[in-house]
Amino acid sequence: MVTGGSRGLGLAVVEALATDGATVVLAGRRPDAVRDVVASLRARGLDVSGVTLDVDDPASVRSAAAEVSARHDHLDVLVNNAGILPEASPEPGDEAPRFADPTVFERTFRTNVFGAVAVIEEFLPLLERSRAGRVVNVSSTMGSLADQQDPASPYFGLVVPAYQASKAALNAVTVSLAKQLAGTRVKVTSVCPGWVQTDLAPGNHEQAPTPPAEAARVVVRAARLPDDAASGSFLSATGAVAW
Ligand code: NDP
Repeated sequence: MVTGGSRGLGLAVVEALATDGATVVLAGRRPDAVRDVVASLRARGLDVSGVTLDVDDPASVRSAAAEVSARHDHLDVLVNNAGILPEASPEPGDEAPRFADPTVFERTFRTNVFGAVAVIEEFLPLLERSRAGRVVNVSSTMGSLADQQDPASPYFGLVVPAYQASKAALNAVTVSLAKQLAGTRVKVTSVCPGWVQTDLAPGNHEQAPTPPAEAARVVVRAARLPDDAASGSFLSATGAVAW
């Protein structure tokens, strides 16, 4: 199952997993978009079904888990992809914050962190019934504290407080969940997909070097992590990312 699966990177991951032969549940918060995208993928012969899931709304997460449990006896892969970057698109007329707008901070954490935690909590029983459950948290090198302090990093000058803190917090969730699940068959990975041509931030389509289908590869690699691989790592297309 892929959250935020009806567009952007999430859609590319749904397509990649389904093309690879997986039965995929596309989770999205807009029922019409989910229905339309699922119909077009099924018309291409892909085994994809949809579920309405707004990660910000605990009741929606619970009812999605009940619906998926009624349809499937286990879940092999959970991709926590749904994410937002409101700091890149301030509302017209908004005053620029001195540091960060607390409301934007809350909104960013609600989706990028609390949303992922709510989905993990509700779907863990289904994942634990898999022979090899995998949780993939779609993070970002922008959440790497090591990278933020590395003057050689291309992101060194970037200060995007809510987004960076939310992805650092999501990485902490990866580490603690991996420890919690040590000794089980479920493995947890944070991934950075690179800078991707999606709607996440204005200019991404024109400036980002990575098409979604290419960015999806690292997500799929984490979703297919072999049984003898380490749990609780942070991966990008070029290898491990420093926390
Ligand atoms: P997009 O803005 O294109 O897509 C975001 C997706 O998240 C949409 O499907 C959107 O659904 C969904 N979403 C947002 N809020 C919620 C919510 N409350 N409940 C359920 N779904 C929600 O961005 P990307 O595809 O680029 O982003 C996907 C992930 O990749 C994010 O976690 C992002 O932080 C991460 N990432 C992206 C990078 C990039 O360069 N693009 C770089 C590093 C990480 P809807 O269509 O309903 O709005």
